[in-house]
Amino acid sequence: MTTPAQVQAMDEADALAGFRERFHLPRGLVYLDGNSLGPLPIRTQERIARVAAQEWGDGLINSWESAGWIDAPSRIGDKIARLIGAGSGEVLVADSTSINLFKCLAAALAMQPGRTVMLSESGNFPTDLYMMQGLAGLTGTRYEVVPADRLLGRLDESIAVLTLTHVNYRSAAIHDLAAITRAAHDAGALVAWDLSHSVGSVPVDLESAGVDFAVGCGYKFLNGGPGAPAFVYVARRHQALAPAVLSGWLGHREPFAFDETYQPDPGIGRFRCGTPPILSLMALEEGVDLLLEADQAALRRKQSALSRLFIELVDSHCEGLGFTLASPREDERRGGHVSLRHPHGFAIMQALKARGVIGDFRGPDILRFGIAPLYLSFGDMYEAVTRLVNVMREAEWRRPEFNRRASVT
Ligand SMILES: *Cc1c(COP(=O)(O)O)cnc(C)c1O
Repeated sequence: MTTPAQVQAMDEADALAGFRERFHLPRGLVYLDGNSLGPLPIRTQERIARVAAQEWGDGLINSWESAGWIDAPSRIGDKIARLIGAGSGEVLVADSTSINLFKCLAAALAMQPGRTVMLSESGNFPTDLYMMQGLAGLTGTRYEVVPADRLLGRLDESIAVLTLTHVNYRSAAIHDLAAITRAAHDAGALVAWDLSHSVGSVPVDLESAGVDFAVGCGYKFLNGGPGAPAFVYVARRHQALAPAVLSGWLGHREPFAFDETYQPDPGIGRFRCGTPPILSLMALEEGVDLLLEADQAALRRKQSALSRLFIELVDSHCEGLGFTLASPREDERRGGHVSLRHPHGFAIMQALKARGVIGDFRGPDILRFGIAPLYLSFGDMYEAVTRLVNVMREAEWRRPEFNRRASVT
């Protein structure tokens, strides 16, 4: 069993420990929800103030050029590309993950005449399934959702596109992105990966896997801020062929020609739709820049070590308290969070929050603990499990105030 002294030694040996002070994190709080909303980087606070006062306040409309606003979606896209094994000009920051997935799926359907089915797995993040549902209704195509173990068997000449989330939002299980992409391609299907829980957390190499489309989220491990814009990846070989179904004016090859007929930008620019949210974009850029300062392989190693410690502490300190591990035990198969199951999970998480450990709850019984190595310490793991044990030992979670449902869990 790992002792407090050993935990302290782990923190002392942690070469990434210095990144913690780059974030605004309330003292005493153990924040294990960076997989849902990353914390505020100090520099982001300064950047937003500067963008508002100088670029918007003083620069006004000139700032579209002079402050680089107009190029921000592709500039930040190129930075995110480095985190997911994509090339320059293959990633664009725009809209939300849901909307970007819609664009990718619609493009994929149009690129696959004669194939009319969008395929995904049950247990995928609901918005991904909902977007397929809406798009199927709009285009007269179909969507199918099957259990993960039946996905590959379902791939035939009817499947236009397979869409999956790389790291499962409940269990943190990681799909074999390269193998599934290969199997889909062998069956003539395109693939669209949702990297919302992967980007900035687990290694992704889109180019070597030959992925067609991908989308992902800016406010989780990229620490881009609440409602940060998302990103979209389109493999270079598809860019001139993938129709821009949301054909807004900024995706036009020459927006300021004010041409009355839409002609798409030849590259990823066609996946822009309207005017980007500049304040949010600049906040996202700080989050991405901060992440890029760290060695990504070292971050992933630390994330695995933190998660291993957390699991070991739960195993040894929470025996007989009713928890079961809902995430893979093997480091390589587990993404950026650790999930525990407990029949009273909701109330336990509320009680834990009152003790200053923030995770989240995903019904019916999953407690999720986000493990973000950029700002978490080994001591945080120890503290979180200690407080969890206290919540259970003193049956705090039974109190009525912890059993009332909120609208955001
Ligand atoms: C968080 C998340 C989203 C978020 O979608 P938005 O449209 O940006 O709100 C989408 N997909 C997955 C898998 C997610 O985890």
